[in-house]
This record gives sequence, structure tokens and C-alpha cells, in this order.
Amino acid sequence: MSASAKDNQTGRLWVEEGEAKVGPVATVAPVAPIDKTYAFAVPDELADRLEPGQRVRVPMGRKGRVMDGFCVDVQTLPWTSTLRFVDSLVDARSFLTTELLQLGRWIARYYACPLGRTLNALVPQAVRAQAGFRSVRRARLVVSPTEIAREHRLGAKQQAVVDALSKATGPVEVERLLDDTGSSSATLRSTVAHGWVTLEKTKEPLAAPDFDQPRHEPDFELNDEQVKALSRIRRAIDVGAFRVTLLYGVSGSGKTEVYIRAMRQVVEAGHQVIMLVPEIALTTQLVHRLASRFADVAVIHSGLTGVARSLTWEAIATGAKKVVIGTRSAVFAPCPDVGLIVIDEEQESSFKNLQAPRFHVRDVAIKRAQLASIPVILGSATPSLESWVNCDRTDHYERIILPDRVRSLPLPRVHVVDMRDEYRLLGRFAVLSRLMDEKLTATLDRGEQAVLLINRRGHASLLFCPNCKLRLECPSCHTLLVFHSATGQAKCHYCRHRVNVPDVCPDPSCRSPLVAFGAGTQRVEAVLGKRFPSARVHRVDSDTMLSESRYRQLIHDFEARKIDIAVGTQMIAKGLDFPFVSFVGVLSADVAVASPDFRADERLFQLITQVAGRAGRRDVPGEVVVQSMAPNTPALQAAVRHDFVQFATAELQIRRKLRLPPHARLVRFVLAGTKDADVRREAEALADRVRQAIESTAAPNADTLGPQPCPLLRLRGQYRHDLLLRTADAGTMGQLLDHLRANKLLAPKVQSFIIDVDPVSLA
Ligand code: ADP
Ligand code: ZN
Ligand code: ZN
Repeated sequence: MSASAKDNQTGRLWVEEGEAKVGPVATVAPVAPIDKTYAFAVPDELADRLEPGQRVRVPMGRKGRVMDGFCVDVQTLPWTSTLRFVDSLVDARSFLTTELLQLGRWIARYYACPLGRTLNALVPQAVRAQAGFRSVRRARLVVSPTEIAREHRLGAKQQAVVDALSKATGPVEVERLLDDTGSSSATLRSTVAHGWVTLEKTKEPLAAPDFDQPRHEPDFELNDEQVKALSRIRRAIDVGAFRVTLLYGVSGSGKTEVYIRAMRQVVEAGHQVIMLVPEIALTTQLVHRLASRFADVAVIHSGLTGVARSLTWEAIATGAKKVVIGTRSAVFAPCPDVGLIVIDEEQESSFKNLQAPRFHVRDVAIKRAQLASIPVILGSATPSLESWVNCDRTDHYERIILPDRVRSLPLPRVHVVDMRDEYRLLGRFAVLSRLMDEKLTATLDRGEQAVLLINRRGHASLLFCPNCKLRLECPSCHTLLVFHSATGQAKCHYCRHRVNVPDVCPDPSCRSPLVAFGAGTQRVEAVLGKRFPSARVHRVDSDTMLSESRYRQLIHDFEARKIDIAVGTQMIAKGLDFPFVSFVGVLSADVAVASPDFRADERLFQLITQVAGRAGRRDVPGEVVVQSMAPNTPALQAAVRHDFVQFATAELQIRRKLRLPPHARLVRFVLAGTKDADVRREAEALADRVRQAIESTAAPNADTLGPQPCPLLRLRGQYRHDLLLRTADAGTMGQLLDHLRANKLLAPKVQSFIIDVDPVSLA
């Protein structure tokens, strides 16, 4: 659009090309894979309606194709002749607060994602579409009836409309007006045409989403440790500054109760609270518990319908809801006045977003709290090593420990069964070891409930020699090598050293064929059915638990003791709180160890600790049996003793030695395409560019690892190779990424390219 054409249209006073007029200029981030922002002049008719955070349509490219973008800034600047105009508004108002816009900018930079795409991820689609809102038209009388009567003789219907409007205290909804007066819309239009009546259009919410509030539950008295923890958190709240509190306590130590009291203090002071949980399906009980303690709870999760989501968003944005509980997207809840953020199970890998922007909810929440100058509580029975070390090296962090279970309940006793012995005894892999069978039988005989954890069958397993018990170990790290059936290679998940797998035991005096373990979990249900025909076995996994109602049903059935044994994957390990579970069995601890990256042992520790935490939560003491081919793994031994500190100390030493997180920062680049050789070549070229960038920016302590084939080499028909960039700290990483992006060095010619900053999985 040329400058003069616009002039004719708006009657602006500037004419000559090149002569600068000063006017509003919007900075716009296109919602597209374009890693840049652009400036546009704001035409007069939009000038007082456009604000940062709003979506606009802007002409892009040589042909001026119109696309959506986010306005991120408006400033008064010279209108140069090269500026194009904002075409139109997409949203009538901004869905992003200043604080969220700032947070979005941080995410875009830190996670190396285009700004427009990032901002688009901050507001749910349904909210942008304003699902659940209806257009309401209202009529308002703008000329007094006496004045109208002076110049016109009104028809009966027109008179009725004017009378009705003059009696009303404000504008009247059009449908009601027509109903009440029995007039037609043509009549109304005629009054509008005369200029007596104006129509206004607004969007208003349908009925607010209902939420069945359970009855109010009384408080119980906190124990001494809880009181101490709470008073320290309260101090942080009173100071009203950014501060991170890591609340570490075994499961059942009363952490949730501490969050609730802290949240209440903030809500009573008139502020809002966001509580983030890993998966809403697992927290049905928690939602119920919060709803019984707070009047205004809003729940955000991926299972909400568009309408419910949009209305919930609105209720939060107006401040009507004080407590927000939700999964990933709740970290972007549009609270006008958030006073505290709580993150339960902060170590959970499901807090990592799996699409660009690949942010980690915990880290985004911490950033949000920093921008808002408010405290954050991270809670966990098995804190992430990242958070754990931050307490030692960052002033903003504080560690609070709840050492015991409430009401002095003992932690469950954990037994480990060496499955190599079982194998030798039977000459095959049994699903249930003798001890597992014995304990399960006893539990059922006592009429108590059991939880059995099976792991989804991994693509990797441990190798061992059934004859001499020798296991394949990494020559440099002395950790177990993991066998990958896809490649036929064994690999160290710390240093990524790989060897071709021998068929027979490497010990020259043995030479027995090696065995891979880790399969067979599919048979579990069948085996249980045969072994315990009268037991009611129920399977819980992500397939059977797709809907929230089925999950609620399960919880109900379990509480009503209609289920004797719940068999399930990881899902079952988390969050459930049942009084009559006295036994927990882990069928194979090794599948967790066999996961393909350096966090394998950390995951193993977390998994065993979590699932063990399901046992003996009320008055029945708990017991746990863990089956493993590698019973002496330090992480497993620490889990048996419920000793997180011991685990963390040993594991952190390894991480330091090998320069792995949290003692370094990683960025993972994943390249994928249908031709392996092409992908490999592009990965090599990318590695060269990254190394050059390290050199040219003189980045201290930065290097690359790889490129190399991913553990999951083929996925959805594409070959995948990855490259790791490693730096000592986040600052260096940010600078390197800035440099690489600014110089367009991160654009390999492959079908799919992923940048994953602080990856939680290297699969
Ligand atoms: P965590 O979050 O650490 O697993 P919870 O707060 O869920 O622990 O507490 C575990 C159980 O103990 C819950 O059923 C809770 O209602 C109960 N509980 C928590 N604090 C107390 C207390 N001070 N006195 C009695 N029961 C408590
Ligand atoms: Zn051997
Ligand atoms: Zn190694």
C-alpha cells in the first residue's frame, strides 16, 4: 500500500514520499517459523484499539500476503516510506498481560523459538477463539423521547421500542427488546436509521463452568516439622520478593498440607495462586482436596473442552478465581495478580513441553515468579538434581526438609530380588519371583490391596551372563551398558560409548550365551489371572486411562475395595493415595535403568521411591518387592534405604566428573529425514558451524558431543541424528544460541529440525 493511497483513505496530512511523519509503529512477531520481528505503521482507525499482546494481520513478503502476528510493542516513531500498514486486528483485545508478554520474550530467547510461535503457545486456541462466548447486541436510546416526538410521528411499534428503551436503566438486549415490544427487527432498524437508537455488540460468556464443590473439610493440626516449614515459607511470602523454596519430604510427609496453608495465606491477602501438577489425571484426589479447602478453584488441563477452557481462562483473568490448579499450560494462567506459584513433583519430566517452544514448566514458573517478584515453592520426594544443587549455589534458593511421614507412619520396607538367581533356578525368566509371589499371596489373604508396577516395554534392556552373573560395563564409567536391539549395540548412557555386543560372555573361562532381560511384561496380566484366579485385577495405563471419568471410576473402585490388584505403568506410581494398599511390587526395575540417557539412574531412583510411596499410607504398614537383574546398582540401593541425599551425592559426583547437567548445560539439536546419509551429512555440517561459533565467540568451556545416531534411530519413517552443545552455564549457552540464530547458522536442510534447550530426554 503506497503512502498516498492511505492518505486519501484517512485524510492524513502527510503526502510526500520520504518525508517523515511521526506516528504509532507496531513491532509484530509473525505466527510462523520466522525468527524475526517487523515494524508496521498503525493506521488511525486502529491506533487507539491496538495494544501489545494483541494479534494483528500484517502484510508479509514481496507479495504482501497477509498473515497473523502478535503485536509486541507500539511506539511513536517516524513513518518512513518503507513502512507498511497493519492490515487489521484479529482480537478485539490482548490476551496477554504485560507480564506474560515479558515471559514470552524470555521463553523465545532462552528456548530458541521464534517469538510469534512462542506467544501463540501461551494462549490456548480456544481462548483465542473465545469459545464459550456469544455475541450480544444491545440497543440504547440516544435521543430523548420528547425530542423525537417534536419532529416525528412514530408508528405504534416504533413508539413501543422508544418507550421500552427510555424506561430501561441501560442498554437492552435486542432479542429481549423485540420480544417485549412485539416489534420486528425492521422496526428497530428504522429507529437506528433515524439516529434515535444505537446498537452495540459485545462478547459475553455463556454460563460459567460449574465445578462441584465438595463439602468443606476442617484443618488438622500441623506437626512440628510442618509448622517449621510453613513459617519459613511464610517469611518468604511476607517479604514479597522472588524466592525459591525447595520443599523436600518423603511421600506422606505432609508437603501438600504445607502448600495449602501457604496458598491460603496468599489468597486471604487477596492475591491469586497457581499450583502446577504433572498430570491432572493423576491428581484427581488433589483437586478434590484443594476444592474442599478453597472457595474459588479453577482447574486447567488438556482434557477440558474448548468452551470450558475459554471460560476458565476468563474467570482467572477477571480475578474471580483465586486458586488455579493445572498442568503445563496453567503456568501461563492470565492471573492479574499472582502472589505464589507452587510446583508439585517438580522433577517430573512431563513438565517439559514436547513441541516448540520446548520449555520446562518449572523453569518458566520460576522465571514468571522472578518477573512478578513473588515466591515459588517446589515440592518433591525426589527433587531434580538441578533444583537440589541450586539450593547450594544460588542465594535465591532455600531447601526445607520434612524428614518423616506424618503421624509417625513408617516408610515401607523395600526388598530387592536378584532375578539372575531366579533365572538360574528356573532356567527361564519368571514374571513373579518367589518372594514376590509369597508377599502378594499374603497381602491378598489379609484382604489388603496391592499395586504392581510394570514398565512399558523399552527398546533397550540389560545384558548379563546367567552363568557367572557378569554384566557388560562401560570401560570408562563402570556403569551398565545398555543393549539396544535396534542397532545390536550396547551403549553407556553416561558417556555414550558404544560397543558391538558379543554373543557369549566375555569372560574367557565362561563363554555362556548372554541373555537380554526386560521383555515379557505383556504377560503379567495373564500370569496373575492364572496364579490368583479369585483376585480382582485391574489394569491402569495410559490407554485405559484416557478419560478423566474412567480415572475417577478407578479411584472410586479402588477406594471401595472392588479391586485387589492394580497393575500399571509409571502412571500408577504417582500421586495415588489409598489407605489399604499394603504391598507394592516392581516387576522389573531394569527397564528404567535401560533408558537411553544419563538420567537413567535418576529416573530409577525416582520411580522406585514414588511407587514405594504408595504403600502403607494409612494404618496398614507397607512392604515393597523390587525385581532386578542389577540389584547392586547404587541408585537402587539408595532407593531401598529411602536415601535421596546419598543418591544425589553419588550421582552428582558422576555428573561433575563427566560434565553433565546440572554441572553443565546442554542444547540438543535433532535432525531427521528419510535419507540417512543426507541427515548424517547435515548433522556433520551443523556440528562444524557450531564449533566455529564456539571459536569465534570465544565461548569459555563450551564444546559439542556428536553428531551421532539417536538411540531411537528411526522414528515415524525418518532417520534421526543428534548433536549436543555443552556449556558450563546458562549465560554462555544463551550467547551462543543468540549468535547462531542471528547468523542463521541453525537451518540444516533436513525435513525436521529440533532445538531442545535443557533436554530431559536424549532418546
Ligand atoms: P505429601 O504431599 O508429602 O505426600 P500429604 O500432605 O498428602 O503429604 O499428607 C499425607 C497424608 O497425611 C494425607 O492424607 C494428609 O491428609 C495427611 N496429613 C497431612 N498432614 C497431617 C497432619 N499434620 N496431621 C494429620 N494428618 C496429616
Ligand atoms: Zn559368564
Ligand atoms: Zn561410559
